[in-house]
Amino acid sequence: MTFDYDLFVIGGGSGGVRAARIAAGEHGARVALAEESRMGGTCVIRGCVPKKLMIFASQAGLMAQEMRGYGWEGAQAGRFDWTVFRQKLDAELTRLELIYTANLEKSGVQIFHQRATIVDPHTVALADGTRKTAKHILIAVGGRPALPGIPGEELGLISDDLFLMESLPRRVLLVGGGFIACEFATILAGLGCETVQAYRGDAVLRGFDRQARDMATLQLSEIGVDLRLNVNPTALERQGDGIGVTFTDGSRDGFDAVIWATGRAPYTAGLGLENTGVHLRPNGAIAVDEWSQTAVPSIFAVGDVTDRVNLTPVAIREGHAFADTVFGGRARTVSHVNVASAVYLRPHEVASVGLTEEQACARGDVDVYDTVFRPMRSMFAGSNAKVMMKLLVDPETDKVLGCHIVGPDAGEMIQLAAIPITMGATKADFDATMAVHPTAAEELVTMRNPTRRHRLEVPAQAATA
Ligand code: NDP
Repeated sequence: MTFDYDLFVIGGGSGGVRAARIAAGEHGARVALAEESRMGGTCVIRGCVPKKLMIFASQAGLMAQEMRGYGWEGAQAGRFDWTVFRQKLDAELTRLELIYTANLEKSGVQIFHQRATIVDPHTVALADGTRKTAKHILIAVGGRPALPGIPGEELGLISDDLFLMESLPRRVLLVGGGFIACEFATILAGLGCETVQAYRGDAVLRGFDRQARDMATLQLSEIGVDLRLNVNPTALERQGDGIGVTFTDGSRDGFDAVIWATGRAPYTAGLGLENTGVHLRPNGAIAVDEWSQTAVPSIFAVGDVTDRVNLTPVAIREGHAFADTVFGGRARTVSHVNVASAVYLRPHEVASVGLTEEQACARGDVDVYDTVFRPMRSMFAGSNAKVMMKLLVDPETDKVLGCHIVGPDAGEMIQLAAIPITMGATKADFDATMAVHPTAAEELVTMRNPTRRHRLEVPAQAATA
């Protein structure tokens, strides 16, 4: 049977674009890609890129405060002009979008700027009614914000909306304690909004190392976020020009805007998967094997829609490995172990690779090397903000199992720490590495003695057996 294409990619985000470019540009496959929205996907258009630019914009107040501590009398951040920032942001996103499109075209990928759905294991239907056949279909449609399912939730915004706001809200509620809630609470507080964050747990960033979570929780309050723990909204209602919110503890409050940051769900609805035999996991994610292949041999899926590790670099690697395997004669899989990540908070980022202290303890014996201190730069300026460096070490093999950093540019540091840890470095390797002085990161190679040693308790019966 002849097909219109060797590969039809649905979704022009990180994973889909990489797979299409490699399959067409490097391996000579005939490739088409459909994207219903802007090219670049969540990361470029409504995620990592605009978010990080907003993080940069939001630190002016902290920088001015620090500079006053260095003797710059009267240093002030001045007035933030959202309109100016948004115009520049829009121009930058358009620039990136055009680069993504141009790179695809240069690789020989045919682009359809419209929605595509799946008709059968080798056919997709475009929104304009045309049908295209392909030997392989790659689903790379990502995720969508998930709402909590409470009355009035439609009055709230999602993170996508934030980049499109005409003006900043005076008083805002962020709901959630994950990546997006914490980063946007940091941004909005930094841009001068009265920021309340409501989280149903007792410390933000569940899944991260507990000590890092506690420091992040404290830091949010210290930068002026009104962080309300162990509460959750139960209902929203219109209140004049604003929104009235009722919380689980019975309290009520009013806001100009409410932003849901209550997780994301795979965007599989309406994709036509019921026509194919592709299996879904209970949360709607597409079930794939280590080759990113679904239960239908001609259909593959990469990125957030598979809910493995939902980060851009992971989707890119999955898309690349898929293209090399299927079209390049170079079979390879992606390791989802030791994936480093960072949460861009201010003044200190939270970054991590490998096991958390809690996970390492559950796995077996572990020696913890950690240090918490006030870094030179901000301490001089009178700040109390603390840095943390932590290494988790297997006492038997001396292997470093995890690294956790809370500090300025922790995201940059963890990228480098992730290299030796991925290579299987031991604590002795870290110790043998000369320090760079004076830096905060030098602590990673100068921690001599464990702060604490956790040993798995062996049940008495097993010990005597
Ligand atoms: P997360 O999964 O990180 O956090 C979701 C938060 O919402 C959690 O605090 C969760 O609470 C809470 N929550 C879930 N359901 C409800 C509910 N019904 N009511 C109240 N609270 C609820 O998702 P995000 O939306 O923050 O981010 C989505 C994904 O985007 C992340 O998985 C991450 O991979 C990616 N991302 C990465 C960034 C980075 O790398 N810097 C930045 C932004 C996003 P609980 O913890 O109790 O479950």
